Amino acid sequence: MQKFNYHCHTSFKGIFDGRNTIDEMISGAEAKGLATVGISNHFVCHPSFASLPPASLMFFSDDALLISLFQECFAAIDEVAARHKIKVLKGLEVDFFPSSRWRKMFEKAVKILQPDYLIGATHFIRNVDESFLCNIYHLERLPSLISTEDKKELLRNYWQNVRLSAESGYFDFLAHPDYCCQFDLCTGEEWEETKMQVVEALASSHTACEINTGGLRRIGRPYPDWWLVKEMIDKKIPLLISDDAHFVKDIAFGFAEVENKLTEFNCQKRFSF
Ligand SMILES: [Zn+2]
Ligand SMILES: [Zn+2]
Repeated sequence: MQKFNYHCHTSFKGIFDGRNTIDEMISGAEAKGLATVGISNHFVCHPSFASLPPASLMFFSDDALLISLFQECFAAIDEVAARHKIKVLKGLEVDFFPSSRWRKMFEKAVKILQPDYLIGATHFIRNVDESFLCNIYHLERLPSLISTEDKKELLRNYWQNVRLSAESGYFDFLAHPDYCCQFDLCTGEEWEETKMQVVEALASSHTACEINTGGLRRIGRPYPDWWLVKEMIDKKIPLLISDDAHFVKDIAFGFAEVENKLTEFNCQKRFSF
């Protein structure tokens, strides 16, 4: 059984979307018997947020502000970790965007913050020039802006974003590639080829992928779906299990179930630091 989790969230300063403190999450991971826990709050930064309606405290347009928040957060993690036996890592769950202006900002932030690891994520749909960004979680707030055709285009960009994040080489592993399915988006057969392109991108860029048990909690199967897990195993993509816990109670949720499946699928290649 996997004894680590590298993907979980905290409520640090009331800005991030976890519901428990750093101390509660680290203590919770230790109580569950994990040997290592990685704290990976959301790194969401894009200049376009300055001109979009405010949607969340954790969406930043000013990279300097977000960098200083993470400097404080990392110091707080170190301080708590020093009081625990469990090994603690400091990561970022990064919302990737392909534009060169985003990449420049991100590369600078990583240089300053020196996190232990980076998780690549896509939670937004966007237009091509990234002037319009909408977290999939907030899609229902903006129905009047989006026609069916526009929505399809935005969803195609979502998958392109996931693929490009794998190809970027920035990330130690990719988070929940088919996260959008939680909202009943892109669930049909016509999206299977698009999803396979992500598998190919992971294989060719030698990027690992998580099996996120948040999906088990919400829609009864992990992100990615089991058939994609099988394809990834076929392509020898290194896999790890993540709980993506936003609450202490979700730490290591579903690990045993996923372990059993990985044995059934004869998975040989597991990822760990
Ligand atoms: Zn995520
Ligand atoms: Zn997450």
